[in-house]
Amino acid sequence: MSFNSLWQFLRRELIGLADLCFPSVCPLCRQTLQASTLFCLTCLGGIVPVVSPRCSCCDLPFAALDGGDHLCQSCLQDPPPFLWAKSVGLYDGTLRRAVRKFKYEGDFNLDRPLAALMEKTLQGALEDFRPDLLLPVPLHIDRLRQRSYNQALLLAKFLGRSWQLPVASRLLLRIRPTPPQIGFKAAQRRRNLRGAFALSRPLQGERVLLVDDVMTTAATARECSRTLLDGGASAVAVAVLARARLRG
Ligand SMILES: [Zn+2]
Ligand SMILES: [Zn+2]
Repeated sequence: MSFNSLWQFLRRELIGLADLCFPSVCPLCRQTLQASTLFCLTCLGGIVPVVSPRCSCCDLPFAALDGGDHLCQSCLQDPPPFLWAKSVGLYDGTLRRAVRKFKYEGDFNLDRPLAALMEKTLQGALEDFRPDLLLPVPLHIDRLRQRSYNQALLLAKFLGRSWQLPVASRLLLRIRPTPPQIGFKAAQRRRNLRGAFALSRPLQGERVLLVDDVMTTAATARECSRTLLDGGASAVAVAVLARARLRG
């Protein structure tokens, strides 16, 4: 038995023992869990899935409720450099609350249940696209100092362990700080992000799965993907926890 599998075994046993001694609580609302679910049933019920019709590339839900999936206007006019983006659900309800706690209130214990939701969502998509590495969207060093951790890296680390894939945490660098993107429209966001990322080493045809917490206009995912493809990646796909609707 390798050290890694021994550690996984012990970890599972210890978690099982801890569950017996201390009943598990919902990581979001602290209610006692009645079953071995990631969140309590109320919080799980508050996850708003992205349902069809939605953009078949960037996962954006359409306002009209009829018709099938198709490309949104932005993906039609300016096709994204990534193959597809998948999200667990809308940036609303439970996911909105969870992202806020996870990102801004320092509740980094939410990494495991949130990444587990992403893992489930991505199961089907990864049968066709098997990445060589996972890459969290980086924070600029100033933002990292303020926040002390990168939430995208925590999610990627959990997914990497679970899929036994490497997580390249220092490959993509945010070399230029960018203003908070809230309130900017898609075109403005893209302009703000141009030249914001760089690679620390060239790639050699790797297939990359980019990991982030929230996607709004996809400007960040586009710019990261472009940097990766220019640097030698053969394909990029995007996994996010929550998909925000565009406003205005
Ligand atoms: Zn709950
Ligand atoms: Zn789209």
